[in-house]
Amino acid sequence: MQVGFIGLGIMGQPMAANLIKAGFTLTVFDRDEARAVPLVEMGAQAGASPAAVAGASEMVVTMLPETPHVEAVLFGENGVAQALEPGSVFIDMSTISPSATVEFAGRLRERSVELLDAPVSGGQPGAKAGRLSIMVGGDRAAYDRALPLFQAMGNNVVYTGPNGYGQKTKLVNQIVGSLNLLAMVEGVRVASAAGLDLKLTLQAVAGGAAGSWMWSNLGPRVAEQDYRPGFMIRHHAKDLRLTVQLLEELGIAAPGAELCHRLFQEAMQKGFGELGNQGLIKLWW
Ligand code: NAD
Repeated sequence: MQVGFIGLGIMGQPMAANLIKAGFTLTVFDRDEARAVPLVEMGAQAGASPAAVAGASEMVVTMLPETPHVEAVLFGENGVAQALEPGSVFIDMSTISPSATVEFAGRLRERSVELLDAPVSGGQPGAKAGRLSIMVGGDRAAYDRALPLFQAMGNNVVYTGPNGYGQKTKLVNQIVGSLNLLAMVEGVRVASAAGLDLKLTLQAVAGGAAGSWMWSNLGPRVAEQDYRPGFMIRHHAKDLRLTVQLLEELGIAAPGAELCHRLFQEAMQKGFGELGNQGLIKLWW
């Protein structure tokens, strides 16, 4: 199958590589041309624009930073929407606004193109290993057609319901993940202040009821003051902004998520946006 892939950053690069390894024929594009090079070396074609990618593909995947980037790639100049054949499927795997997702899906449906919102969790290690959790919203028949793609990138693919449900599921994921991250950061800080050996503390806590992905994957990085990004603070702050918008729409409070939102805003103001989200600890440490 001919697949287009747009957005070849920390996540998109290894996800596209896994599609090539699984036997899909890829046309790729990133606004930073250099990011296509490793995939072209693996056999992908480089597309000249989003429209050129769409013209060569039955399904197009995007893995872009935020809602405006997805809108521009879809409906902007040389965008995907103008070039996709009726009957094709557009799959957005970025984390963006659920309500914008529903709107984009409606605009594409007028052209007989189905949109699937399919955000992911599992970070850069999950993307590299093809072990992402993928939360899909949209038309069920389009989901069934796209399933082989998802299975090449993830090991936990869940159909969650109509358009927007994938994105809402991801925001729930981000509430739980953010609180786990904050718990990890706080645990490491207190362990350090108490004079504990951080390696031993990480090992002891990982094996008990308080263990988590954040503790096991990002705890060791914090202990070594390694703040290189797997998931950038600016993307995490964006996810919490979307979460707070959803809470407002629902008319409910979620104090833990709101606290994380404030802390990530503070981290942005301090200029930590390009650090990995484990760099949240730099607010105190
Ligand atoms: P990234 O910033 O590393 O990559 C984004 C890529 O999109 C970049 O290569 C950029 O050049 C490209 N891009 C931006 N605008 C473009 C445009 N108009 N046309 C073509 N290319 C464009 O980000 P990432 O970490 O790969 O994250 C991508 C999305 O996935 C975000 O929504 C993020 O929240 C989500 N996500 C990230 C992780 C993670 O651990 N990094 C995990 C789950 C979900």
